Amino acid sequence: MNEWLIAMPEEQLTHLARVAIAFVVCLGAVIGSFLNVCICRIPLGQSVSRPRSHCFGCGKTIPWYLNIPILSWVILRGRCANCGSPISVRYPIVEALTALLFLLVFLSWGNPGLLGLNRLPQPELIPVFWLFAASTVVNVMIDLDHRILLDRISLLGTPLALAVSAAFPLLHGATTWHHGLLASLVGAAAGFGIGFAIAWLGEKIFLQDAFGFGDVKWLMLFGALFGWVGVLYILMLAAFLGLIMGLGAMIAAKCRRAAPDDAPIAIPFGPALGAAALLWLLWGRWIPYGLLRAQAFAVVHRGVVLGILIPVLALSLVWLCWRIRRIRQAVREEEAAETELEPIDDDPAPHP
Ligand SMILES: [Zn+2]
Repeated sequence: MNEWLIAMPEEQLTHLARVAIAFVVCLGAVIGSFLNVCICRIPLGQSVSRPRSHCFGCGKTIPWYLNIPILSWVILRGRCANCGSPISVRYPIVEALTALLFLLVFLSWGNPGLLGLNRLPQPELIPVFWLFAASTVVNVMIDLDHRILLDRISLLGTPLALAVSAAFPLLHGATTWHHGLLASLVGAAAGFGIGFAIAWLGEKIFLQDAFGFGDVKWLMLFGALFGWVGVLYILMLAAFLGLIMGLGAMIAAKCRRAAPDDAPIAIPFGPALGAAALLWLLWGRWIPYGLLRAQAFAVVHRGVVLGILIPVLALSLVWLCWRIRRIRQAVREEEAAETELEPIDDDPAPHP
């Protein structure tokens, strides 16, 4: 295969690369379209294959020629062709995002230097990380809608990641299958252990489960795929991203003045965790690389790195605490509302 590629004239090779990229983007968009179906139906316990895609407004089945990812939405200007009811902009966004992620994973094997991506050591890993990226998109979107992370992704993904690590030990920088498997096992244990510790501490300190058990299981999958170092960096990155998302949501709420000041803005941690895992997969090497380089340089550099890193970590921790308190408050308010409703529920039926 490699010899065949090397023997090819450069012009043809460029052409082949363009065809491959176009194919990958189309594949990503089509998979993204399927992910939209999964995001809508899995939390409701519906089948993802039947019935076929239909309009939520009029219930009409959408014909295949109006179900082309991204393009159909743009051509129809976000409205159903039959009844004109609006179609959420989320659908083309998920499709475009999946296409972009598929392309980036492909490029990290084909031409990582182009965008400073991590180098994917083997082409066989491309479908593995496509699957990972797709499952992450589904988990993040479902978490945003329903505040749940799917067990089937974490619990099916972890054994799969262990098997992949044994089959492709290069993923963990190992050369033999048992070293690859060991690195993956250690990573999974670290992910589960650290996640469990955070969940336990959150419960002890704030008397409320802040860091959900879904997060813990998802961290286990990250560990199996990226090793224990990956888990640590993903957690740090997620806390930092969560801080930015939290502040962004607060500012947005303040600007709109839609929500009163004391309305809880509880942001699920899932989106931050998913984004961090994808960033680690695509550009992760820059974090330890940057830190190591700074360590090797003069004290000035070290000072700059520590000067940035320590406030970032401190802010992230403060944000985590803030978020936990917010959720605790929201739960308390919910409970209070429920107890208020209870007498109505328990209203005895009038005796004849
Ligand atoms: Zn319709």
